[in-house]
Amino acid sequence: MAITPLMPVYPRSPVRPVRGEGVYLYGEQGERYLDFAAGIAVNILGHGHPHLTRAIQDQAATLMHVSNLYGSPQGEAFARRLCELTFADTVFFTNSGVEAVECSIKTARRYHFAKGRPEKHDLITFSNAFHGRTMGTISATDQAKMIDGFAPLLPGFKVREFNDLDAALAAIDENTAGFLLEPIQGEGGIRPATHEFLAGLRAACDEHDLMLVFDEVQCGVARTGQLYAYQHYDVVPDIMASAKGIGGGFPLGACLASEKAAAGMVIGTHGSTYGGNPLAMAAGQAVFDIVADDEFLAEVKQKGERLRSALEQMMPNHDHLFDSVRGVGLMLGIKMKTDSRAFVNYLRTKGLLTVAAGDNVMRVLPPLTIEEEHIREFVETLSAAAGEYEVPAEAA
Ligand SMILES: *Cc1c(COP(=O)(O)O)cnc(C)c1O
Repeated sequence: MAITPLMPVYPRSPVRPVRGEGVYLYGEQGERYLDFAAGIAVNILGHGHPHLTRAIQDQAATLMHVSNLYGSPQGEAFARRLCELTFADTVFFTNSGVEAVECSIKTARRYHFAKGRPEKHDLITFSNAFHGRTMGTISATDQAKMIDGFAPLLPGFKVREFNDLDAALAAIDENTAGFLLEPIQGEGGIRPATHEFLAGLRAACDEHDLMLVFDEVQCGVARTGQLYAYQHYDVVPDIMASAKGIGGGFPLGACLASEKAAAGMVIGTHGSTYGGNPLAMAAGQAVFDIVADDEFLAEVKQKGERLRSALEQMMPNHDHLFDSVRGVGLMLGIKMKTDSRAFVNYLRTKGLLTVAAGDNVMRVLPPLTIEEEHIREFVETLSAAAGEYEVPAEAA
Protein backbone atom coordinates (compact mmCIF):
# COMPACT_ATOMS: atom_id res chain seq x y z
CA MET A 1 0.00 0.00 0.00
CA ALA A 2 1.39 3.40 -0.97
CA ILE A 3 -1.10 5.60 0.86
CA THR A 4 -0.18 6.84 4.33
CA PRO A 5 -2.34 6.01 7.34
CA LEU A 6 -3.06 9.74 7.71
CA MET A 7 -4.94 10.79 4.58
CA PRO A 8 -2.23 12.60 2.62
CA VAL A 9 -3.89 16.02 2.32
CA TYR A 10 -1.14 17.89 4.18
CA PRO A 11 2.48 18.36 3.09
CA ARG A 12 3.69 17.29 6.53
CA SER A 13 7.08 18.64 7.47
CA PRO A 14 9.80 16.67 9.28
CA VAL A 15 8.90 18.56 12.48
CA ARG A 16 7.18 15.99 14.73
CA PRO A 17 6.30 17.61 18.05
CA VAL A 18 5.59 15.39 21.03
CA ARG A 19 5.72 17.88 23.88
CA GLY A 20 5.21 21.59 24.46
CA GLU A 21 6.29 24.00 27.14
CA GLY A 22 5.41 27.67 26.98
CA VAL A 23 6.59 29.10 23.66
CA TYR A 24 8.61 25.96 22.78
CA LEU A 25 7.79 22.67 21.12
CA TYR A 26 9.95 19.56 21.40
CA GLY A 27 10.32 16.83 18.78
CA GLU A 28 10.79 13.08 19.14
CA GLN A 29 14.55 13.39 19.58
CA GLY A 30 14.27 16.35 21.92
CA GLU A 31 14.82 18.97 19.18
CA ARG A 32 13.57 22.36 20.36
CA TYR A 33 11.48 24.76 18.29
CA LEU A 34 10.52 28.34 19.04
CA ASP A 35 6.83 28.21 18.18
CA PHE A 36 5.80 31.43 16.44
CA ALA A 37 3.04 29.55 14.61
CA ALA A 38 1.07 28.51 17.72
CA GLY A 39 -0.90 25.85 15.87
CA ILE A 40 -1.96 28.59 13.42
CA ALA A 41 -3.10 31.16 15.98
CA VAL A 42 -4.59 28.53 18.30
CA ASN A 43 -2.24 28.10 21.28
CA ILE A 44 -2.62 31.68 22.42
CA LEU A 45 -1.48 30.85 25.96
CA GLY A 46 1.44 28.78 24.67
CA HIS A 47 1.81 25.10 25.53
CA GLY A 48 0.93 23.62 28.91
CA HIS A 49 -0.37 26.84 30.41
CA PRO A 50 -1.08 25.91 34.05
CA HIS A 51 -4.46 27.67 34.31
CA LEU A 52 -5.83 26.13 31.11
CA THR A 53 -4.37 22.70 31.82
CA ARG A 54 -5.80 22.62 35.32
CA ALA A 55 -9.24 23.77 34.16
CA ILE A 56 -9.38 20.97 31.56
CA GLN A 57 -8.10 18.36 34.03
CA ASP A 58 -10.60 19.34 36.69
CA GLN A 59 -13.53 19.49 34.30
CA ALA A 60 -12.59 16.17 32.66
CA ALA A 61 -12.79 14.52 36.07
CA THR A 62 -16.07 16.26 36.93
CA LEU A 63 -18.17 16.06 33.76
CA MET A 64 -16.90 15.89 30.22
CA HIS A 65 -19.93 15.68 28.00
CA VAL A 66 -23.70 15.76 28.21
CA SER A 67 -26.19 16.28 25.43
CA ASN A 68 -27.56 19.64 24.42
CA LEU A 69 -30.93 18.09 25.27
CA TYR A 70 -30.20 19.13 28.86
CA GLY A 71 -29.70 22.47 30.52
CA SER A 72 -26.11 23.71 30.45
CA PRO A 73 -25.00 25.88 33.35
CA GLN A 74 -21.48 25.74 31.88
CA GLY A 75 -22.63 26.86 28.43
CA GLU A 76 -24.88 29.58 29.78
CA ALA A 77 -22.05 31.03 31.84
CA PHE A 78 -19.56 31.18 28.97
CA ALA A 79 -22.17 32.44 26.51
CA ARG A 80 -23.12 35.19 28.96
CA ARG A 81 -19.48 36.15 29.27
CA LEU A 82 -19.04 36.37 25.49
CA CYS A 83 -22.19 38.47 25.18
CA GLU A 84 -21.02 40.86 27.89
CA LEU A 85 -17.69 41.33 26.13
CA THR A 86 -18.99 41.74 22.57
CA PHE A 87 -21.90 43.01 20.47
CA ALA A 88 -23.63 39.63 20.75
CA ASP A 89 -26.83 38.67 22.56
CA THR A 90 -26.67 34.94 21.90
CA VAL A 91 -24.08 32.24 21.12
CA PHE A 92 -24.03 28.82 19.47
CA PHE A 93 -20.98 26.72 20.41
CA THR A 94 -19.22 24.49 17.88
CA ASN A 95 -16.11 22.29 17.80
CA SER A 96 -14.23 24.14 15.08
CA GLY A 97 -13.93 27.32 13.08
CA VAL A 98 -15.65 26.03 10.00
CA GLU A 99 -18.70 24.97 11.98
CA ALA A 100 -18.86 28.45 13.48
CA VAL A 101 -18.84 29.92 9.96
CA GLU A 102 -21.46 27.42 8.77
CA CYS A 103 -23.69 28.45 11.67
CA SER A 104 -23.08 32.09 10.75
CA ILE A 105 -24.11 31.47 7.14
CA LYS A 106 -27.23 29.62 8.24
CA THR A 107 -28.11 32.36 10.74
CA ALA A 108 -27.82 35.04 8.02
CA ARG A 109 -29.99 33.13 5.55
CA ARG A 110 -32.52 32.22 8.20
CA TYR A 111 -32.84 35.86 9.29
CA HIS A 112 -34.30 36.78 5.94
CA PHE A 113 -36.42 33.63 5.85
CA ALA A 114 -37.89 34.61 9.22
CA LYS A 115 -38.64 38.08 7.81
CA GLY A 116 -40.59 36.53 4.94
CA ARG A 117 -37.85 37.17 2.37
CA PRO A 118 -36.55 33.66 1.58
CA GLU A 119 -35.15 34.87 -1.75
CA LYS A 120 -32.46 36.80 0.15
CA HIS A 121 -30.03 33.90 0.42
CA ASP A 122 -26.82 35.14 -1.21
CA LEU A 123 -23.75 36.23 0.69
CA ILE A 124 -21.23 38.52 -0.95
CA THR A 125 -17.75 37.24 -0.05
CA PHE A 126 -14.23 38.29 -1.00
CA SER A 127 -11.19 37.28 -2.98
CA ASN A 128 -8.57 35.14 -1.22
CA ALA A 129 -10.93 34.54 1.67
CA PHE A 130 -10.54 31.48 3.83
CA HIS A 131 -13.58 30.31 5.77
CA GLY A 132 -12.81 26.61 6.23
CA ARG A 133 -13.18 23.40 4.28
CA THR A 134 -16.83 22.35 4.27
CA MET A 135 -18.79 22.46 1.03
CA GLY A 136 -20.49 25.64 2.25
CA THR A 137 -17.33 27.50 3.14
CA ILE A 138 -15.29 26.50 0.08
CA SER A 139 -18.18 27.81 -1.97
CA ALA A 140 -17.59 31.17 -0.31
CA THR A 141 -14.04 31.63 -1.62
CA ASP A 142 -12.39 31.97 -5.03
CA GLN A 143 -9.18 30.11 -4.07
CA ALA A 144 -8.70 27.43 -6.69
CA LYS A 145 -6.68 25.13 -4.43
CA MET A 146 -9.66 24.86 -2.05
CA ILE A 147 -12.28 24.39 -4.76
CA ASP A 148 -10.76 22.30 -7.57
CA GLY A 149 -12.36 18.90 -7.91
CA PHE A 150 -15.19 19.54 -5.48
CA ALA A 151 -17.86 20.76 -7.88
CA PRO A 152 -20.73 21.29 -7.76
CA LEU A 153 -20.21 24.01 -5.19
CA LEU A 154 -23.14 25.39 -3.25
CA PRO A 155 -24.97 28.30 -4.82
CA GLY A 156 -25.55 31.48 -2.89
CA PHE A 157 -22.11 33.14 -2.86
CA LYS A 158 -20.73 35.96 -4.96
CA VAL A 159 -17.03 36.70 -4.65
CA ARG A 160 -15.78 40.26 -5.12
CA GLU A 161 -12.39 41.93 -4.69
CA PHE A 162 -11.37 42.35 -1.02
CA ASN A 163 -11.25 45.99 0.10
CA ASP A 164 -13.09 47.16 -3.02
CA LEU A 165 -16.15 48.83 -1.54
CA ASP A 166 -17.64 49.90 -4.86
CA ALA A 167 -17.49 46.35 -6.22
CA ALA A 168 -19.12 45.01 -3.05
CA LEU A 169 -21.93 47.54 -3.14
CA ALA A 170 -22.48 47.01 -6.87
CA ALA A 171 -22.98 43.27 -6.19
CA ILE A 172 -26.04 43.86 -4.00
CA ASP A 173 -29.27 42.71 -5.62
CA GLU A 174 -32.70 41.40 -4.58
CA ASN A 175 -31.16 38.06 -3.53
CA THR A 176 -28.48 39.47 -1.27
CA ALA A 177 -28.56 38.35 2.36
CA GLY A 178 -25.41 40.15 3.44
CA PHE A 179 -21.61 40.11 3.45
CA LEU A 180 -19.24 37.51 4.87
CA LEU A 181 -15.59 38.45 5.43
CA GLU A 182 -12.53 38.29 7.63
CA PRO A 183 -11.82 41.80 8.99
CA ILE A 184 -8.16 40.79 8.71
CA GLN A 185 -7.58 38.02 6.18
CA GLY A 186 -5.35 35.34 7.67
CA GLU A 187 -4.71 32.51 5.24
CA GLY A 188 -5.00 34.96 2.35
CA GLY A 189 -1.85 36.75 3.54
CA ILE A 190 -2.53 38.89 6.66
CA ARG A 191 -4.47 41.52 4.79
CA PRO A 192 -6.40 43.93 7.01
CA ALA A 193 -9.61 45.40 5.69
CA THR A 194 -9.57 49.16 5.42
CA HIS A 195 -11.73 51.11 7.81
CA GLU A 196 -13.56 52.64 4.87
CA PHE A 197 -14.36 49.17 3.51
CA LEU A 198 -15.85 47.81 6.74
CA ALA A 199 -17.69 51.01 7.55
CA GLY A 200 -19.09 51.10 4.01
CA LEU A 201 -20.34 47.52 4.27
CA ARG A 202 -21.94 48.32 7.63
CA ALA A 203 -23.72 51.34 6.18
CA ALA A 204 -25.01 49.25 3.26
CA CYS A 205 -26.28 46.58 5.65
CA ASP A 206 -28.10 49.23 7.66
CA GLU A 207 -29.59 50.76 4.55
CA HIS A 208 -30.77 47.49 2.94
CA ASP A 209 -31.37 45.44 6.11
CA LEU A 210 -28.57 42.98 5.29
CA MET A 211 -26.43 40.89 7.60
CA LEU A 212 -22.79 41.82 8.20
CA VAL A 213 -21.02 38.56 9.06
CA PHE A 214 -17.43 38.65 10.32
CA ASP A 215 -15.24 35.58 10.31
CA GLU A 216 -12.93 36.28 13.26
CA VAL A 217 -11.78 32.69 13.55
CA GLN A 218 -8.15 33.74 13.08
CA CYS A 219 -8.07 37.44 13.98
CA GLY A 220 -10.29 37.17 17.07
CA VAL A 221 -9.61 36.37 20.74
CA ALA A 222 -7.00 38.98 21.68
CA ARG A 223 -4.65 38.21 18.75
CA THR A 224 -4.70 41.83 17.55
CA GLY A 225 -4.62 43.43 20.99
CA GLN A 226 -8.39 43.78 21.10
CA LEU A 227 -10.59 40.91 22.17
CA TYR A 228 -12.04 40.94 18.64
CA ALA A 229 -10.63 42.73 15.61
CA TYR A 230 -13.92 44.53 14.86
CA GLN A 231 -13.31 46.52 18.04
CA HIS A 232 -10.28 48.14 16.35
CA TYR A 233 -12.50 49.32 13.54
CA ASP A 234 -15.50 50.28 15.61
CA VAL A 235 -17.63 48.50 13.03
CA VAL A 236 -20.03 46.07 14.65
CA PRO A 237 -21.17 42.90 12.86
CA ASP A 238 -24.56 41.24 13.16
CA ILE A 239 -23.05 37.77 13.26
CA MET A 240 -19.49 36.64 14.03
CA ALA A 241 -17.61 33.35 13.94
CA SER A 242 -14.92 32.75 16.55
CA ALA A 243 -12.65 29.74 17.07
CA LYS A 244 -8.90 28.94 16.95
CA GLY A 245 -7.61 30.85 20.00
CA ILE A 246 -10.91 30.63 21.88
CA GLY A 247 -10.07 27.20 23.35
CA GLY A 248 -6.31 27.78 23.54
CA GLY A 249 -5.81 24.39 21.83
CA PHE A 250 -8.99 22.68 22.89
CA PRO A 251 -11.34 22.28 19.88
CA LEU A 252 -13.94 25.01 20.34
CA GLY A 253 -15.75 27.52 18.18
CA ALA A 254 -18.65 29.90 18.58
CA CYS A 255 -21.17 31.66 16.40
CA LEU A 256 -22.15 34.94 18.03
CA ALA A 257 -25.19 36.92 16.94
CA SER A 258 -27.29 39.89 17.92
CA GLU A 259 -30.85 39.15 18.98
CA LYS A 260 -32.09 40.65 15.73
CA ALA A 261 -29.78 38.55 13.55
CA ALA A 262 -30.70 35.34 15.36
CA ALA A 263 -34.42 35.86 14.71
CA GLY A 264 -34.65 32.71 12.61
CA MET A 265 -32.60 30.38 14.80
CA VAL A 266 -35.46 28.79 16.71
CA ILE A 267 -35.83 25.31 18.17
CA GLY A 268 -34.82 22.59 15.76
CA THR A 269 -33.04 24.79 13.21
CA HIS A 270 -29.46 23.89 14.19
CA GLY A 271 -27.54 21.58 16.44
CA SER A 272 -24.32 19.83 17.41
CA THR A 273 -23.68 16.70 19.46
CA TYR A 274 -20.50 17.90 21.15
CA GLY A 275 -20.89 21.65 20.72
CA GLY A 276 -20.54 23.54 23.98
CA ASN A 277 -19.98 20.53 26.20
CA PRO A 278 -18.75 21.18 29.75
CA LEU A 279 -15.14 20.29 28.92
CA ALA A 280 -15.02 22.77 26.04
CA MET A 281 -16.66 25.44 28.18
CA ALA A 282 -14.05 24.98 30.90
CA ALA A 283 -11.31 25.48 28.31
CA GLY A 284 -12.96 28.60 26.88
CA GLN A 285 -13.53 30.09 30.31
CA ALA A 286 -9.91 29.47 31.30
CA VAL A 287 -8.68 31.22 28.15
CA PHE A 288 -10.96 34.18 28.77
CA ASP A 289 -9.89 34.35 32.44
CA ILE A 290 -6.48 35.33 31.05
CA VAL A 291 -7.14 37.25 27.83
CA ALA A 292 -10.32 39.19 28.64
CA ASP A 293 -8.32 41.67 30.62
CA ASP A 294 -7.38 45.22 29.62
CA GLU A 295 -3.85 44.84 30.89
CA PHE A 296 -3.31 41.61 28.96
CA LEU A 297 -4.70 43.20 25.79
CA ALA A 298 -2.48 46.26 26.21
CA GLU A 299 0.52 43.94 26.55
CA VAL A 300 -0.41 42.13 23.33
CA LYS A 301 -0.43 45.50 21.58
CA GLN A 302 2.96 46.43 23.05
CA LYS A 303 4.51 43.08 22.19
CA GLY A 304 3.10 43.38 18.68
CA GLU A 305 4.69 46.80 18.24
CA ARG A 306 7.97 45.56 19.70
CA LEU A 307 8.08 42.53 17.40
CA ARG A 308 7.07 44.59 14.41
CA SER A 309 9.70 47.25 14.92
CA ALA A 310 12.41 44.63 15.60
CA LEU A 311 11.47 42.95 12.32
CA GLU A 312 11.43 46.24 10.45
CA GLN A 313 14.89 47.08 11.78
CA MET A 314 16.29 43.69 10.78
CA MET A 315 14.71 43.38 7.36
CA PRO A 316 16.84 45.87 5.38
CA ASN A 317 19.85 43.60 6.15
CA HIS A 318 18.17 40.96 4.02
CA ASP A 319 16.68 43.16 1.39
CA HIS A 320 16.65 40.37 -1.21
CA LEU A 321 14.25 38.29 0.97
CA PHE A 322 11.95 40.60 2.90
CA ASP A 323 9.63 43.24 1.55
CA SER A 324 7.53 44.55 4.43
CA VAL A 325 5.63 43.72 7.63
CA ARG A 326 1.86 43.89 7.78
CA GLY A 327 -0.87 43.06 10.27
CA VAL A 328 -2.12 44.15 13.68
CA GLY A 329 -0.95 43.24 17.19
CA LEU A 330 0.51 39.73 17.20
CA MET A 331 -1.15 38.84 13.91
CA LEU A 332 1.78 39.72 11.70
CA GLY A 333 2.84 38.80 8.20
CA ILE A 334 6.14 39.31 6.44
CA LYS A 335 5.68 39.90 2.75
CA MET A 336 8.54 38.09 1.05
CA LYS A 337 10.37 38.66 -2.20
CA THR A 338 10.96 34.92 -2.60
CA ASP A 339 8.69 31.93 -2.08
CA SER A 340 7.44 32.18 1.51
CA ARG A 341 6.64 28.45 1.70
CA ALA A 342 10.20 27.41 0.91
CA PHE A 343 11.52 29.89 3.47
CA VAL A 344 9.12 28.67 6.17
CA ASN A 345 10.34 25.10 5.51
CA TYR A 346 13.92 26.28 5.80
CA LEU A 347 13.25 28.08 9.09
CA ARG A 348 11.96 24.82 10.56
CA THR A 349 15.44 23.34 10.09
CA LYS A 350 16.72 26.27 12.16
CA GLY A 351 14.28 25.63 15.01
CA LEU A 352 11.81 28.39 14.13
CA LEU A 353 8.15 27.71 13.44
CA THR A 354 6.12 30.18 11.37
CA VAL A 355 3.29 29.66 8.85
CA ALA A 356 3.13 30.37 5.15
CA ALA A 357 0.14 32.23 3.74
CA GLY A 358 -1.14 33.46 0.41
CA ASP A 359 0.35 36.46 -1.41
CA ASN A 360 3.87 35.20 -0.60
CA VAL A 361 3.53 36.08 3.04
CA MET A 362 5.07 34.39 6.06
CA ARG A 363 2.72 34.54 9.03
CA VAL A 364 4.16 35.28 12.46
CA LEU A 365 1.56 34.18 15.00
CA PRO A 366 3.25 33.58 18.36
CA PRO A 367 1.48 32.69 21.58
CA LEU A 368 0.20 35.93 23.12
CA THR A 369 2.18 35.09 26.26
CA ILE A 370 5.60 35.65 24.65
CA GLU A 371 8.15 37.70 26.55
CA GLU A 372 10.80 40.13 25.37
CA GLU A 373 13.39 37.31 25.33
CA HIS A 374 11.32 35.33 22.83
CA ILE A 375 10.98 38.32 20.53
CA ARG A 376 14.73 38.77 20.65
CA GLU A 377 15.41 35.07 20.05
CA PHE A 378 12.98 35.03 17.14
CA VAL A 379 14.40 38.05 15.37
CA GLU A 380 18.04 37.01 15.95
CA THR A 381 17.46 33.46 14.73
CA LEU A 382 15.43 34.70 11.79
CA SER A 383 18.14 37.17 10.81
CA ALA A 384 20.90 34.55 11.08
CA ALA A 385 18.83 32.09 9.04
CA ALA A 386 18.09 34.74 6.42
CA GLY A 387 21.82 35.44 6.12
CA GLU A 388 22.55 31.78 5.38
CA TYR A 389 19.52 31.13 3.19
CA GLU A 390 20.19 30.22 -0.40
CA VAL A 391 17.13 31.05 -2.43
CA PRO A 392 16.10 27.88 -4.30
CA ALA A 393 16.41 28.31 -8.04
CA GLU A 394 12.73 27.67 -8.71
CA ALA A 395 11.67 30.13 -6.02
CA ALA A 396 13.95 33.03 -7.00
C1 LIG B 1 -8.88 28.47 10.39
C2 LIG B 1 -9.97 29.28 9.85
C3 LIG B 1 -11.26 28.74 9.62
C4 LIG B 1 -11.56 27.27 9.78
O1 LIG B 1 -11.37 26.82 11.08
P1 LIG B 1 -11.27 25.25 11.36
O2 LIG B 1 -11.18 25.16 12.86
O3 LIG B 1 -10.05 24.75 10.66
O4 LIG B 1 -12.49 24.62 10.84
C5 LIG B 1 -12.25 29.59 9.19
N1 LIG B 1 -12.02 30.90 9.00
C6 LIG B 1 -10.82 31.46 9.22
C7 LIG B 1 -10.64 32.92 9.01
C8 LIG B 1 -9.75 30.67 9.62
O5 LIG B 1 -8.54 31.21 9.81
